[in-house]
Amino acid sequence: MRRSPDEIAKMRKAGRVVAEMHERIRDAVRPGVTTLQLDAIGREVIERNGARSNFLNYHGFPAVICASPNSMIVHGIPNDDPLEDGDIISIDCGAIIQGYHGDAAHTWPVGTISPDAEKLLQVTEESLWAGIAQMRDGNRISDIGHAVQTVAEGAGYSVVREYVGHAIGTAMHEKPEVPNYGLPGRGPKLRVGNVFAVEPMVNMGGPETQVLPDGWGVVTRDGSLSAHFEHSIAITDDGPEVLTVP
Ligand code: MG
Ligand code: MG
Repeated sequence: MRRSPDEIAKMRKAGRVVAEMHERIRDAVRPGVTTLQLDAIGREVIERNGARSNFLNYHGFPAVICASPNSMIVHGIPNDDPLEDGDIISIDCGAIIQGYHGDAAHTWPVGTISPDAEKLLQVTEESLWAGIAQMRDGNRISDIGHAVQTVAEGAGYSVVREYVGHAIGTAMHEKPEVPNYGLPGRGPKLRVGNVFAVEPMVNMGGPETQVLPDGWGVVTRDGSLSAHFEHSIAITDDGPEVLTVP
């Protein structure tokens, strides 16, 4: 789907709200805070901006953020457990403005984290930006995932296969999928007006995943740490425009 400049303007507004949710949540992340408290911050930002949540009630999801600590990869339900010094916490959230969606994720350090964890966060974010840099008219969709995989595996990490990025627009999850792995030069050609949510999930250990008994939380099967970074990005004549930034 190729979105018009007017549609992308609406998605930019939604993206700004998502960015504000992340900024406010980042400022609140510290030892002792609960992910339910972080969810309340996200709700306040959504309401103040006249937006709606695309996470709340999605297939019955009970919150406006996903909060996934440590070895949890994605889809964590916020709860009453206080975060602890040395944890990492992945926050994924979105917003809808005038029918158009934004979606982004960041992994934050809680207090002081180990150098190993620090490196995982840095490399995962770097892999996202390497993927974004491939979002140019005429490239192919697999160029994005290939760039992500090259950075992540180059640092000795693995990339999750079962969960992938996606096109985004009037729904949060549109086709095509945007895998975080693969050979370059495959799949549909990228065109000006395409908008994708690119979202590497990078594990310190193996790539295998497991869904928790609550049916939502996804963890690494080997218990290793996992990080998740995501932006919603439009392809313009001048290259990629990240919509989920302040
Ligand atoms: Mg997301
Ligand atoms: Mg997404």
